[in-house]
Amino acid sequence: MDTHHHHNHNEDMLQVEEALELILANFGKLPSEVKPILDTLGQTLDESITATFDIPPLENSAMDGYALRYEDISHTTPDHPTTLEVIGEVAAGHISNKEVRPGSAIRIMTGAPIPDGADTVIPFEDTDEIDRKNSGKKINQIGIRIISQRRANIRPAGEDVKKDEVILTKGTILRPTEIGVLASMGKSEVKVIRKPHVSILATGDELLQPGSPIEPGKIFDSNSFSLAASVTKYGGIPHPLGIAPDNLEATVEKLNQGLDADLLITSAGVSKGDYDFIKDVLVQHGEIKFWSVRMRPAKPLAFGTIKDPKGRMVPHIGLPGNPVSALVAFEQFCRPAILRMLGRTELTKPTVTAILRGKIINYDGRRVYARVVVGKTGENYYAIPTGPQGSNILTSISRANGLAICPQDVPEINDGQIVIVQMLDWPEEVEV
Ligand code: AMP
Ligand code: MG
Repeated sequence: MDTHHHHNHNEDMLQVEEALELILANFGKLPSEVKPILDTLGQTLDESITATFDIPPLENSAMDGYALRYEDISHTTPDHPTTLEVIGEVAAGHISNKEVRPGSAIRIMTGAPIPDGADTVIPFEDTDEIDRKNSGKKINQIGIRIISQRRANIRPAGEDVKKDEVILTKGTILRPTEIGVLASMGKSEVKVIRKPHVSILATGDELLQPGSPIEPGKIFDSNSFSLAASVTKYGGIPHPLGIAPDNLEATVEKLNQGLDADLLITSAGVSKGDYDFIKDVLVQHGEIKFWSVRMRPAKPLAFGTIKDPKGRMVPHIGLPGNPVSALVAFEQFCRPAILRMLGRTELTKPTVTAILRGKIINYDGRRVYARVVVGKTGENYYAIPTGPQGSNILTSISRANGLAICPQDVPEINDGQIVIVQMLDWPEEVEV
């Protein structure tokens, strides 16, 4: 848990935005790769897609019914139905080899191309088909009872997409709908910006791998898991390196296994007692910047670059060890780096303006990220703190869906006051 410092040199600390800017200067969008469309969810399109044909390619029926000539039925009323000869049938995926001549109709299914000669489709329910069927007769004639206008129920060719039109622009983030659009153009593969590989190392003598029995004085490594899941959540590929004990050689050895990544994340070893330790790794094997960031939780933050065997400098973000601090710092610094590598331009988290139900105290002039649960009642969002805010209390962020921000120069936000909340997850429409 962060300790209470009255003697803080707040002016020496970096603002979150300054630290973020320094970090982001080391990241750009990654090169592209060509992948099967189904593997590209959430990735950024790195080419523009131009339609090579109309969708739909041919005009077709929007209903199951009868394709006919409007002229033939234009005087129809329910009392004076028009009777036409049924000369054939056409289903989706097939092209009729018959032409609709005056006085005739072709039975047609939804999606089937409109036969030559026809200009209107009348749905089954506006005909006497059901009566004819019930009387057991073969349907070689059909009575039209109700009509609308010419071209009713005909979907024009190119209604969805026109040939040569740009249907997806470079830079589009691929959602399920865009993946559908690509498939509708007949594409099975597409060029996207590749996903960043992120190595994750936990450090600490006290850490045990989940699945092993608990031991006296030890705790399970949760950071590797919450951080790896966060990497996946924001579109990266996590590579957990396991746990390094608190000694330099072991840490360097583990880190070396992760140097082929685009980003290296470690947790712990950056607070007072361990300060020199992660610092030493970076000093000996790359470059170190070590900051105090004017925020709570997650004040200590290491950033640097480590040289891989080919001389490439791999960015390294050293997060604090406390589980909440690690996650809050991940959201502020690692998430934007991952999104930048993915080719995203919008790096900020969505915020809502909420009414605080409870109190946030800011006793030493840092920006406070308070764990809250946000819900909506009528027009208003409400934010309720999730209880004790110690940075060691992992369940307090697990219960939260947002981080309420108390600015550094605001000593407290009280019940009923407005607060800006950075949303971790968007709330359902819940009563709070
Ligand atoms: P440190 O930054 O090494 O001083 O660690 C700060 C706190 O975070 C200590 O209580 C550690 O036990 C805890 N901690 C460090 N790493 C982890 C981890 N991977 N999972 C859970 N807790 C951790
Ligand atoms: Mg430690």
